[in-house]
Amino acid sequence: MNFTHPFLDESGDDKLHEECGVFGIIGGDNKASGVTALGLHALQHRGQEAVGITSFNGSEFYTRRAIGHVAENFGTEESLAELPGHMSAGHVRYSTTGGSGLRNVQPLYADLASGGFAVAHNGNISNAATLRQDLVEKGAIFQSTSDTEVIIHLVATSRYPTMLDKLIDALRMVEGAYALIVMTPRGMAVCRDPMGIRPLVMGKLGDATVFASETVALDVVGATFERQVDPGEFIEVDFDGTMRTHRPFGNVPARPCIFEHVYFSRPDSIFNKRSVYDSRKSIGIELAKESPCEADLVVPVPDSGVPAAIGYAQESGIPFELGIIRSHYVGRTFIQPSDGARHAGVKRKHNANRAIVEGKRIVLIDDSIVRGTTSMKIVQIMRDAGAAEVHFRVASPPTGHGCYYGVDTPERSKLLAGRMDLPAMREFIQADSLAFVSMDGLYRAVGMAGRDNACPQYCDACFSGDYPTPLTDLARREHGEAQLTLDVSKGVQTPENEDA
Ligand code: SF4
Repeated sequence: MNFTHPFLDESGDDKLHEECGVFGIIGGDNKASGVTALGLHALQHRGQEAVGITSFNGSEFYTRRAIGHVAENFGTEESLAELPGHMSAGHVRYSTTGGSGLRNVQPLYADLASGGFAVAHNGNISNAATLRQDLVEKGAIFQSTSDTEVIIHLVATSRYPTMLDKLIDALRMVEGAYALIVMTPRGMAVCRDPMGIRPLVMGKLGDATVFASETVALDVVGATFERQVDPGEFIEVDFDGTMRTHRPFGNVPARPCIFEHVYFSRPDSIFNKRSVYDSRKSIGIELAKESPCEADLVVPVPDSGVPAAIGYAQESGIPFELGIIRSHYVGRTFIQPSDGARHAGVKRKHNANRAIVEGKRIVLIDDSIVRGTTSMKIVQIMRDAGAAEVHFRVASPPTGHGCYYGVDTPERSKLLAGRMDLPAMREFIQADSLAFVSMDGLYRAVGMAGRDNACPQYCDACFSGDYPTPLTDLARREHGEAQLTLDVSKGVQTPENEDA
């Protein structure tokens, strides 16, 4: 059937996109890049457009970056033989800030006066264009359009003597979200922005120290989970395993991204000291308490709606059934970089399990509604399969605002909750009823008594519009500083077609 609608995105894409995953290891044997490839494979859901790995063997840095998945680029002994050494960092990427292209794939590397410097960054710098403009006016020449390169230039031009002080000096000028893994000839340094918006955890693999965006990557490489890198914490690790931690930003209240609990992290990860699976199941329980429904079956929108649907079924007593089957050969269509690729995938992705849903009153559970495109399609698929009623319950509050912290969101005019109230949203997706978990319900599900409105415990800006940091570039664009409007290519030396 044709779902063309004046407000629909052609792609049918209806998820927020996490931008990146990072992984790093120092110590152990000479095959650090192999461990990095395995760790990145476990983080593939955080970015499927491109992958890069840098290694260091005690004297030289080696980097290989590629468009595509981890397995197809780093799945062989030969590909990893090009990356020797006992320190390595890697990055999986979904293209947002800076656009597609090999020169924006990380880790980024530069030869600084102090020696080699490689960086892998998860997050987004919300004053990158402003900083970049200043740097270009002072003569800086950029090799990429990635905002991560701004950090390299700030480090390169810092007048502080040590690498740690240079990095801290640079990051004091940066606003926004970052989880960084840095390699220099002296060892590895990692840091998380003062509010810890983007995740980063630490583990041990024998004598080696390992860092990753999610604990699932530690599990997969066989490392033990030690702890999360705290918000605002810098950790330096030397080749002999010596570790030093620093907290240069003082005590800033933490605001980690609550959407990691809702959708971004894998359910088998631990985020902010909580099982993501437990959080999702608890959201379903809260949703059932807040928005009960007369129905015969609870049906998850697979796969991301499954834990919340289990919680909803458990709390409501309504049987859980797999009324929608997802094809596992289509992939996560929404993380493809081109609209054409997404559009081809989304229509093949979900199919109704007619034998289960025919004649039944269904409660559909999904993790979120962004544009409403997929939700409308799924409701129609249920009706086409003979469902008597289709009720929709959403395991997050309405997503009505954009994210500026490393998550790709459509502009507000395309967000369903950015332009419609609840009755209009229900009408749009053609459900018999529609309800979202409340903000307090979401906070209860992640272990709080509710949202502390005076000092929120998480970033929830895409739901609340309450941004935890200044948004300098956005404010300047809104004040009509046209030259700042994503003119990130200014000062870039490499021709745009170099990557082709
Ligand atoms: S705005 Fe939303 S997606 Fe972005 S960091 Fe905050 S909670 Fe996460």
